Formats: sequence, C-alpha cells, structure tokens
Amino acid sequence: MSARASAMKASGIDVISMSLGEPDMDTPEHIRRAAQEAIDNHFSHYGAVPGLQTLREAIAAQQNTKGRIAYTADDVIVSIGAKMAIYNAIQTVINPGDEVIIPMPAWVSYTEMVKLAQGIVIPVATRYEDAYCLTPDQLRATLTPRTRMVILCSPNNPTGSLYTQTELEALVAVLRDFPHVILLSDEIYDSLTYGEQAVSLASFPELADRLIVVNGVSKAYAMTGYRIGWVMCQNKDFIRACIRLQGQQLTCATMVAQKAAEAALTGSQECVAHMKSVFAERREIICRLAADIPGWKFHRPQGAFYLFPDVSAIGTGDEVAELLLEKAHVAVVSGSAFGCPSCIRLSYAISTEEITEAMRRIRTALSLL
Ligand code: PMP
Repeated sequence: MSARASAMKASGIDVISMSLGEPDMDTPEHIRRAAQEAIDNHFSHYGAVPGLQTLREAIAAQQNTKGRIAYTADDVIVSIGAKMAIYNAIQTVINPGDEVIIPMPAWVSYTEMVKLAQGIVIPVATRYEDAYCLTPDQLRATLTPRTRMVILCSPNNPTGSLYTQTELEALVAVLRDFPHVILLSDEIYDSLTYGEQAVSLASFPELADRLIVVNGVSKAYAMTGYRIGWVMCQNKDFIRACIRLQGQQLTCATMVAQKAAEAALTGSQECVAHMKSVFAERREIICRLAADIPGWKFHRPQGAFYLFPDVSAIGTGDEVAELLLEKAHVAVVSGSAFGCPSCIRLSYAISTEEITEAMRRIRTALSLL
C-alpha cells in the first residue's frame, strides 16, 4: 500500500499516507549528537556480539523500572532492531514442528518468522468485544504439549490495545500449567500509552526463566533507521544460544547506532514525554473524527499510534483500503495483513492537519457509496 501510495504521489496525486508504522518526528538532537560523537570517537570497530556493555547496562536499568524481574547486562542481547531481536529469539527457540501461538490480529512478521524456523503458527482469532485481547479461555484451549512459544504484544500493533495487569495475571495463571511454554513479550510500544500505563510481563517473577522481553529505541525515540532493538531473558541457555546465532550472523549491531541508543536511554526522557503528548492529541482528533464515519466500529486505542476500525458494515478490509486509496487518496492498510480481514489500520503518526484532511476525505468518499 505504501509503494502504491508513493507511485500515486510520484504521478502528482496528493495522497495522504496513513500506512506507515513509524513516528514522523525527527530523532531528538542530543541523540543525534551522540551518534556524531561516536563517529568522531572512533566507534568504527567490531564490538562484542551481545552489544556494548554500557548500552546493555542502560537497557537493564531502564527495564528494571518497569517490572519485578531484576535484569543485568548479561541478560541482554542487542540486535539490529527489535525485528532481528525477535527473529533471532524465534530461530533460537523454535525447532521444526514446534507450535507457536499468535493472537490475531498481529504484527505481520511474527508469522513469517515462525515459518522461517519451520515452526507451526497457531493463530487465535481474538474478538472485537475483548478489544482484540487474548482471553485465558482462548489460551487454555489452544495450548498443547507441542506448544513451544506464545507471542504477546502490548501495546498492540495493529489494534492499539493494552493488556491490563489483571488480564496478564489471568494469562500467566493459565501458563502455570504449561511450564514448557516460552513467552515472547513484544513491548516495543510500551512508552506510547495514553491512559493506563503498559504492564511489562517482567512484572511476573514466576516467568523469569521462560520470558523473553523484546524492546528497542525505534518507536520511543523516533529512531527507526538506527536499527537498535534487543531481547532480554534470564534463561542462560537461551542467552548463550542466541549469542552463538548472532555471532555467526551479524557479529554485532552497528556501534555508532548503539552509542546513540545509549544516549537515548541514559539522557533526559523529556523527548519521550513530548512525543507521547503529541500522539495523545492526535489520538483525540482521529477518534473524534472517526466516530462520525458511518459503518466504522472501533475501540479508542490505548497505546501505539494506530486506529483499527472494523469496517465490515461497508466491505472487507481489502475492499475498503482499495476504495480509500482510489476515491479518497488516503493510504491505509487492510486488516487482512494482520490476520483480521474485517478491519483497516490507520496510522496517526502524521500531522493533525493531515489527520483532519484524511478523515474529511474518507467521510466524503464513504458517503458517496
Ligand atoms: N514489533 C512490532 C509490534 C512492530 O510494530 C515493529 C515495527 N513496526 C517491530 C516490532 C520492529 O521494530 P524495529 O524497528 O525495532 O525493528
């Protein structure tokens, strides 16, 4: 959809893109400066496979403010974005034939990564009424002796939903009966919440030996192009195996980018608070305008920067996404990309003016049907 929107733009059509999954802000100045200083200070050599010690210490220290499992630098492996961190975790844990439970809708890459490890994806369709969160009953009904991993993402891409402490407690209680199952918790959007705070699965010490927490600097600090993300886990076998994989595969993440990420984590967090307030305002605007669109049904997103309306009263997500691009010149992503074909995903990581204009165009296009 992004590629088509770009082609239309190149041919002179004024397309508003609501299909992107990254903050539209610039990387904060003190972080850019740290990258420049890292170049001048010759961070131009190979580094340790799991990442710079100082960065890993900063990552552990930040995570320890969010949960009750106390991580150290030795529990952290820095990779090229959360994407490679997740890929490596899946390659490390999953053997051919292992089942991986993925609540749908979900970020597109989990499924493909599991397939690359020859694992078997067990998609679980979550319900609109549950704000697309996995329920304990659904989890219990899906777990088998062959289940090796459950992947959770909160705040969620594409739904913007957040699991509460109580909801997570109930899922953890189910997992107590399945001690062979590893939990991968993708917490990449945890700094972007607009009411209740995100609860890290590291709040549950009983999971310590089988929890892999994923995070990174892409979303929180507007650093998608720096490509720094990480896994965190107290299981030493996992860490050893994952480092062995990464050693053959990438040696280490880019050193200059690691120094920039370190500056992001250890510097003032004012920039994160600012971005969050900008997204909070945009969320208000998009929710208010979306409420006026006939045939849309949605939950107010509690985190990340996506609105995920159910458009089944109008057509399938594919049909509506196509129609909005052709008739309203607004690019959105069909929910089918995330395993939820009745929805579309709109990113509000664009200016308030663009959001307002996009929603006006959408309302007009749909009112002509
Ligand atoms: N997890 C989710 C849910 C995401 O949306 C994304 C980015 N779109 C990632 C992981 C990967 O982030 P990174 O840029 O750090 O690779």
